[in-house]
Amino acid sequence: MQYRLVPKNGDTLSALGFGAMRLPSKRMGIDEERATQQIRSAIDSGVNYIDTAVPYHSGESERFLGRALKDGYREKVKLATKLPPWGVKTREDMDRILDIQLKKLQTDHIDYYLLHSLDANHWKKMHGLGVLEFLDAAKASGKIINAGFSFHGDRKTFKEIIDAYDWIFCQIQYNFLDEMNQAGTEGLQYAASKNIAVMVMEPLRGGMLAGKLPKDVEEIYDRAKTKRSAAEWALRWVWNHPEVTVVLSGMNDEKHIAENIKACETALPGSMSTGELATVKAVAAVYNRLIKVGCTGCAYCMPCPFGVNIPQNFFIYNSYHMGGSRLFTRGMYGISLMGAMGTKADASLCQNCGKCAKACPQKIAIPEELRKVRGTLGGLRTKLMIPLVKMIFSAEIKE
Ligand code: SF4
Ligand code: SF4
Repeated sequence: MQYRLVPKNGDTLSALGFGAMRLPSKRMGIDEERATQQIRSAIDSGVNYIDTAVPYHSGESERFLGRALKDGYREKVKLATKLPPWGVKTREDMDRILDIQLKKLQTDHIDYYLLHSLDANHWKKMHGLGVLEFLDAAKASGKIINAGFSFHGDRKTFKEIIDAYDWIFCQIQYNFLDEMNQAGTEGLQYAASKNIAVMVMEPLRGGMLAGKLPKDVEEIYDRAKTKRSAAEWALRWVWNHPEVTVVLSGMNDEKHIAENIKACETALPGSMSTGELATVKAVAAVYNRLIKVGCTGCAYCMPCPFGVNIPQNFFIYNSYHMGGSRLFTRGMYGISLMGAMGTKADASLCQNCGKCAKACPQKIAIPEELRKVRGTLGGLRTKLMIPLVKMIFSAEIKE
């Protein structure tokens, strides 16, 4: 196993982290026997960072990990979970939720505790409710060891949050299609320049970069001198960055777990050749040709006076057209319609005032494109998913 250093605390973490959000399932729940075996065997192979959160498996992921990490496995790993801003209304809620999480995880401390899915709105809300004082107090009491945050907003907000506290780590979405989205490469480098460890989520962009590939992508990989799976190409590209500490993979298949562990051993920073990087660049170009709206996620168009999260709309709309699971993309839009992950992405809130389009450096006809987003993603099929999404995001109140 390859290990990477957390600059501020000296921890050495496995460059591959186990994300407990897509565990194997059975009869609508987690397949406990299989998932426990997978996690324990990954730990036996050197994985020492496990990441979960309240909404994963409708609140059951944390509870499951409490059981799966018995028999001495808890002591072998650094455990990460997250405070859900959508479940917090008061400063007291933060303590209450953390105590519930400790109980569910059957532990007296969380090694790496994150504010979940910050964007400008969630950050403003949590900061206003006193979250930094909460983190100080939770660290002082020993209930959490290291404080961090996961992020899905714009780069300007990312830097603002990075500068606002003595974070040990952060977690960003990063893969070869998201260099310019959300925190992006600029955010990755900014965090690293401040000695903040960076955990990467969605290295395969929700499975899009490893599932059914566009024909042109398959051909590029087939022509490459080095033969490896699409998943391995994508993971290696992320590991190639020296600023990255842990790459999280939501694993649920024994064969994939073994492949990821094996690839991680040799995927050192700077280990990809110029030719290999050119292969990934060519693949990214194919995906980028499938993009419908050339939005770079800069957020100069924000805030919208009517509450539309413009870049998030385009991010999901583009993902929908770039392959991968359309069910997954609809689910993402359903989450956004509720505002569960920050500002609402709901395209139908647009009142066509034109303010945003004037600010867009890419000259995107934003209101017009939002109408297309609404037409594609705002239909009945997405709305039918909302009760399920609601159930998932209300999980935090149950013990
Ligand atoms: S045109 Fe629509 S999306 Fe743009 S600022 Fe106005 S209401 Fe918001
Ligand atoms: S729509 Fe334009 S201004 Fe808004 S985030 Fe995208 S590129 Fe930036």
